[in-house]
Amino acid sequence: RRGDIASPSQTKEIIAKHGFSLKKSLGQNFLIDLNILDKIVSAAGLDRTRGALEIGPGIGALTEQLAKAAGRVAAVEIDQRLLPILADTLAPYDNVRIVHGDVLKLDLKELVREAFPDVDKISVVANLPYYVTTPIVMKLLEEKLPLDNIVVMIQKEVAERMAAKPGGKEYGSLSIAVQYYGEPELVTIVPHTVFIPQPNVDSAVIRIKIRETPAVEVEDERFFFEVVHASFAQRRKTISNNLLSRFFAKGERDKLDKVLQESGIEPSRRGETLSIEEYARLSGILKRHLN
Ligand code: SAM
Repeated sequence: RRGDIASPSQTKEIIAKHGFSLKKSLGQNFLIDLNILDKIVSAAGLDRTRGALEIGPGIGALTEQLAKAAGRVAAVEIDQRLLPILADTLAPYDNVRIVHGDVLKLDLKELVREAFPDVDKISVVANLPYYVTTPIVMKLLEEKLPLDNIVVMIQKEVAERMAAKPGGKEYGSLSIAVQYYGEPELVTIVPHTVFIPQPNVDSAVIRIKIRETPAVEVEDERFFFEVVHASFAQRRKTISNNLLSRFFAKGERDKLDKVLQESGIEPSRRGETLSIEEYARLSGILKRHLN
């Protein structure tokens, strides 16, 4: 092959050569723009001492650029039909391993251990299938993999929610979950025209720098996230009403008022105005009062 996999003409040729038909249900929107690929790869800060874990290599457009920039690449692809195509397109690169499977079901800790034995920093770099963006990102964060950063192309709206600060309508439990584990930053907004076929949502590249320790210290992580979820259960309700319906019996408003007062949180505030630190304090105090 001459030239990069990702050029529009190469992509069309590869698809035609293998008689491949793209599956919408698997979120198959392939990248055909080398400038965008370059931005994605640069955002991860790769070099030969680093590893890249890709989710959904497709026909290998991004994988090829990762193979050129990183020491080792492992890519997980669910669609069996792509395996022979990837074997063909990535044949020139000896530092790429393709794993067949559903990223949501795979043991990623095991995969990372096996695929990156001699690498000290690992990035996840991917153009994610949009139908499972949030579950994939949350799995990567919650499993506490030894990652340096996550650089992914996702729906613009989801990227904005992940990076949102308190006070706006984008801020919610997803913002808090992502910011608990990492520091998200929007890298660039991406036009529809860089994909085949073009998706009908706007896209963005987000970088999440993984924190060495979570943003706040909480005694009970599960309860912390339970409190966060409850606080956003009905966005138009006050924090007080949301917490009351989740954690207290009717008639226990005094108890809740004490918790909020001790936490320094006005009962009339809405969940979207509380910082991650305030949620941490609130969940600690609430837990003590409930026990
Ligand atoms: N990386 C390629 C590119 O940028 O051109 C393809 C990106 S495409 C948006 C998403 C890819 O993820 C597809 O190849 C699709 O088959 C794959 N995929 C979808 N669901 C998956 C899952 N649960 N686990 C692993 N791969 C998945």
